Amino acid sequence: SIPLGFFGGIGAASKSGILIKGSNYLEALNDVKYVVFDKTGTLTKGSFKVSDIHTSLEGLGKDQLLEIAAYAEYHSTHPIAESIRTAFGRELDEARIEGYNEISGHGIQVNVDGKEVLAGNTKLMNKESIHFEQPAQVGTTVHISVDHQYAGYITISDEVKEDAAEAVRTLKQMGKTTIMLTGDARSVGEEVGRSLGLDEVHAELLPQNKVEEIEKLDRRKSPKEKIVFVGDGINDTPVLARADVGIAMGGLGSDAAIEAADVVIMTDEPSKVASAIHIAKRTRRIVW
Ligand code: ADP
Ligand code: MG
Repeated sequence: SIPLGFFGGIGAASKSGILIKGSNYLEALNDVKYVVFDKTGTLTKGSFKVSDIHTSLEGLGKDQLLEIAAYAEYHSTHPIAESIRTAFGRELDEARIEGYNEISGHGIQVNVDGKEVLAGNTKLMNKESIHFEQPAQVGTTVHISVDHQYAGYITISDEVKEDAAEAVRTLKQMGKTTIMLTGDARSVGEEVGRSLGLDEVHAELLPQNKVEEIEKLDRRKSPKEKIVFVGDGINDTPVLARADVGIAMGGLGSDAAIEAADVVIMTDEPSKVASAIHIAKRTRRIVW
C-alpha cells in the first residue's frame, strides 16, 4: 500500500506545475546527489536567433546561403531549424526538397533542387571530410555544404533562461553536484557553464554519449545516491529513461520525452527541480 503522505506530496507538486508519475520517484528525489541538465531548451531558452551569416563560395550571397539552410531544415523540429526558417522568413516550396535525413547529434542531409545539402556541426563536416571555416563569433554554428563543397556557415545564439542561474545556485546550496551535458560545441558549453556556475560541463556529446555519461556517473557515485536528468527531450529520451529520475520540460518537450519522463515540469523552469526535491523532503517527514 502507498502511504497517504505521498498523495499529499504529489498533490503539492502538481499545484506548482510539477507532475510526478509515482510515489517511488518522490522517494528517489530525496536521495538525489547529482543533477544533470541538458543544455538546449532546458537551461537555455532554445529560442535561437541567427547572429552571423558567412558565405565561403564565390558568387553565393548571404541570403542564398540562408535560403539553402532553410530548405535543409524544412522538416526538422530542432530549435536550430526553427531559428533558420524564421530568419529566412519566406514561404518554402516543399517540392524542391527530397530524401530528407536527420542525423542525430550532427545535422541534416537532404537534396535541394537536386543538389545534396549538408547542414550541421563540425562533426558532420569531419565525417564527410569537408573542410570548413572557423566561425568568428561564439555560438552554435551550422556549417553548410552543397554537393560536398563547403558553402559557409550560419551562427546562431541562444540565451540562458531567467531562472537558470538561480536553479544551479539553489541546488549547489542543497549540496547537489550540478552537471550539464550538451551536443553543442565545447566553446558554447563552457561559456554557459561558467555563466551559470555549473560544477561540470561535458560537451560535443551524441545522444548515446549522454547515456554513457550517466552510466559513468553511476559507477562514480555511492549506491544510495541518485541521479536526476533534466531535459527537453529532443533526442534525449534514452537519457531520461536511464537516469534514476528523468525530468522533462513539459512545455517545450516532445511527446516522447513526456512519455519517457518520471517527472514533468509544466512551466519549463529549471528552478522547479529544487522545488521538487524540497517537496520530496517534506513528504518524507510526513510519511515517516
Ligand atoms: P543539445 O545537447 O544542445 O540539446 P542536440 O543533441 O539536440 O543538442 O544537438 C547537438 C548538436 O547537433 C547541435 O548543437 C547541432 O550542432 C547539431 N544539430 C542537431 N540538430 C540539428 C539541425 N536540425 N540542424 C543543424 N544542426 C543540428
Ligand atoms: Mg536537446
